[in-house]
Amino acid sequence: MTDQRDEQLQRLAQALRNTQLPPDAALRRLAETLVDDDSYSHEQAEQDLPGYVSAALVGQPAAQQYPALHRHLLHCQECAKLHVAMLQDLTVEPARVAVPQPDLFFLPGAYTRRLRRAVLRLAQQIGAVLFPDSLSALADVADLLLDELQDLGPNLRASPAAGAALAFGSGDLPDEIKLLAATWAATGRLGETLNAGQIASLQEAGAWPERARSVALQAAVDLGFGPRQAERFAREFAALAASDPAAIPTRTTS
Ligand SMILES: [Zn+2]
Repeated sequence: MTDQRDEQLQRLAQALRNTQLPPDAALRRLAETLVDDDSYSHEQAEQDLPGYVSAALVGQPAAQQYPALHRHLLHCQECAKLHVAMLQDLTVEPARVAVPQPDLFFLPGAYTRRLRRAVLRLAQQIGAVLFPDSLSALADVADLLLDELQDLGPNLRASPAAGAALAFGSGDLPDEIKLLAATWAATGRLGETLNAGQIASLQEAGAWPERARSVALQAAVDLGFGPRQAERFAREFAALAASDPAAIPTRTTS
């Protein structure tokens, strides 16, 4: 963990203490996940882990059932190691009984894995143009943010007052958080509403860049970009999508 990231997380923790955002606001949940919760101890984690692991193994939403533990695991290497050891113990057992298909949040499906990789690549390319100073911070927070974004789905929206309510130095969320969240929203919305065939048809009709641009613009506005920044984000996003339509993974191929 870099010093810069520590500093950012401290700012985030401070902002969270003062925020007016409702507890279920997407950006607040996102921010809370990134900040460690001192009130939750290793002892509690050890107590909760067996239930968390069994829930995950039978396909229940363990992260939602044990939100404090889920967050602790993102921050505590010791407990994260214990978690992995417990999973290995359970999963190397020969399967004597039929176990439902496990739905482990950290083993996302093929589409989600492609989506995460695509979002990171696009966000880095857009960030290199729009926010070159935030690129290293983006790399630091990307994994944690993508875990949380995956949980929220692509239709997330910041409330209009989110940036101000989280009270970052500039009255705004850090650029890298907005950038990654908007890229996630734009890429996911396109990939979930269009299949590869439809994207090819749009391309043939010359309508693909404009579709990508308008979806990206809406995503940027939803995630709290100002009008000019949203326009620039949408333009960069559309240029990348136009030059390589395969950069946007689709959930279904036809
Ligand atoms: Zn711990």
